[in-house]
Amino acid sequence: MAKSIVLGAGISGIAASKLLIKNDVEVLLFDNNSKISVDKIKKSIYGKVKFRVVLENVDDKDIKETNLCVISPGFPKTNLTYKKILKAGVPTISEIELAYLYSKGEVCAITGSNGKTTTVELTGCILKKQFEEKAQVVGNVGIPYSEKVLKETADTKYVVECSSFQLEDIVKFRPHVAAILNFSPDHLDRYESYIDYINAKLNIAMNMEKDDVILLNYEDQILRDLVLQKNMFRCKTVFFSSRRTLTEGFYLYDSAIFYKDNTKTIKLLNVSELKIIGNHNYENVMAAMGIAYYMGMSFVDIVDAVKEFRGLEHRIEFVREKNGVKYYNDSKATNPDATISAIDALKGKIILIAGGHDKGIDYGNLIMKIKEKVRYLILIGEAKKKIALKAKDLNYDYIIYADTLEEAVDIANSYSNVGDNVLLSPACSSFDMFKNYEERGEKFKEKVMSLK
Ligand code: ADP
Repeated sequence: MAKSIVLGAGISGIAASKLLIKNDVEVLLFDNNSKISVDKIKKSIYGKVKFRVVLENVDDKDIKETNLCVISPGFPKTNLTYKKILKAGVPTISEIELAYLYSKGEVCAITGSNGKTTTVELTGCILKKQFEEKAQVVGNVGIPYSEKVLKETADTKYVVECSSFQLEDIVKFRPHVAAILNFSPDHLDRYESYIDYINAKLNIAMNMEKDDVILLNYEDQILRDLVLQKNMFRCKTVFFSSRRTLTEGFYLYDSAIFYKDNTKTIKLLNVSELKIIGNHNYENVMAAMGIAYYMGMSFVDIVDAVKEFRGLEHRIEFVREKNGVKYYNDSKATNPDATISAIDALKGKIILIAGGHDKGIDYGNLIMKIKEKVRYLILIGEAKKKIALKAKDLNYDYIIYADTLEEAVDIANSYSNVGDNVLLSPACSSFDMFKNYEERGEKFKEKVMSLK
């Protein structure tokens, strides 16, 4: 009888447990959060094999008898139980690897520091146009891949959002089409170095071969060098660029998106036909179009679907216009590069609300961008002093501190002029003041809507 340990009793861990049990593998689910409701978990999991939930310590005997460990993306690798499992030589895989092993469907996958969720959702919308309910968006985005594999048919098309954590422990995971959107420093609180973080993301192509395709952002210097100088991908590589024309690939030129290969150049659409804004979003659009194209769809269907896509909540989401001032919620911008792309995307001057939990990233580039277009920088949260110091170093003085997000909105309201944009784009995570970025975005919207 095969036995496994699943680390982390969140939605991924529970879905992984269900999948293992369905395949007659005994499961011990471990989590050291004592607040977890064991009864609730047990009620949600059915099967003929043994299933246990353990909250304090996993016995050495259990570790010895285990053939496989599945680690959830959020589970800390500093955990002692994980270290014991590793030391005992138990093979450890991520939840996406597990799902892939039990799945028969075709897979496309997306990673990058910023734009993953937008691009997977957009890719999902496009694929649904042709494959309807057979197209499933899974992974980091919400619904675990394992959950969908439980109910799959052989012709399911998965769009898998892959965070670096999920790509750390893959072995055979092999998407047929993939995209890497960009690299920018993020999660440096969890990785020893930026290189480790990049290497985790590059695992997405680890098993991809000649008949697979990966779409890569030409404007990302690291990605460009990996292809042009290091020749590191075995699969076909196709670039996309928002800044120059390419001899092959997708590019933005004269406010339109083109596809070019050695036989043809096709104008696909004018960006004014899209409902999302900003060069970063046009990059996401090119990546998604490329994925759908190499998954076998026609450009006619792809373009139709892309034009319908409305963008996602908390990503440069328009909230309201008041007295000629537009308010945008970009609460999902949890690193400086995401905030830079939001500043770039908006026309006119900006009053920026930023700050939150600091992830150890340098704010230099962000301040340089702020100097171009931001009239006032209103700072909240733990990182406010660090950001302000950097701004002062770089001779930017228009800084105001606020104790709460509500106060920041009031200040923005009183300092704004007709034609300005008030943008919440924190460049930091939300955990110092909020449950998550969604709560931060909701609170911002509520306050903005209540302004008289
Ligand atoms: P992820 O899932 O990678 O966090 P999201 O699609 O949720 O990405 O977007 C996160 C933040 O990054 C948002 O604030 C959004 O405006 C910004 N963003 C989206 N796409 C890109 C991109 N291609 N480059 C830079 N920033 C981006």
